[in-house]
Order: sequence, then C-alpha cells, then structure tokens
Amino acid sequence: MDKKYSKPGREEWVRSIVYILIYAAVISGSAFVLLPGYWVVWGLLVLVGAGLLVDWHRGATVYKCPNCDHVYEISFLTDFFAPHGVGKDGPWLLLRCPECKQRSRTGVLKRE
Ligand SMILES: [Zn+2]
Repeated sequence: MDKKYSKPGREEWVRSIVYILIYAAVISGSAFVLLPGYWVVWGLLVLVGAGLLVDWHRGATVYKCPNCDHVYEISFLTDFFAPHGVGKDGPWLLLRCPECKQRSRTGVLKRE
C-alpha cells in the first residue's frame, strides 16, 4: 500500500459525531411521520442509514498493527464485534493482524 495515512485529528471526530447526530435526528424525526402507517419504509431508512454510516467509516479508516506496522482494512463485522477501548493515544480496537497474526490493541488511522 502506498497511500498516505495519518492519525485522525479533531475534525474527523467532529465529523463522525455530526454524521451520527444527523442519522439519529433523521431516524427519530421520521419515526413520528412514518411509523403509524409506513413502518416498513422507516425500517428501510434505519437500515440504509446505518449501512451508509458503516460504509463511510470503513472507507475512511484503516488500522496499523503496532507489532509489525502492517496497515490493513477491516470488515464491517470485525469492526462491529471487535472489543473497543480508548487509551492515552486515542481509541483502539483489539484486532488480529493479518500479517503477523498478533492480537493487539490497534490504533485507528484515517486515509489521506
Ligand atoms: Zn502485525
């Protein structure tokens, strides 16, 4: 991989929070309008919105193995089920590196 990566700055966190807030606002706002007669439409909105958020997040982030410096992407399911935490260097996921098979707390990087 020859793309550039860097640690996410403050604007990335703000953007993530804004996206999630917009999603929450659309879901709760449309619930009043759609739920009585169009709950199927509302359910689709929830699913599509969540899908878009997850897809955006996956496309915007990569993970770097602290053991061998291998940079890799993770799937939605891995992202969802991996234990998350926040350390002094920012948030991490407990991931198994596909290169060295080492399970470690892996920091999030953003794509340039
Ligand atoms: Zn590794």
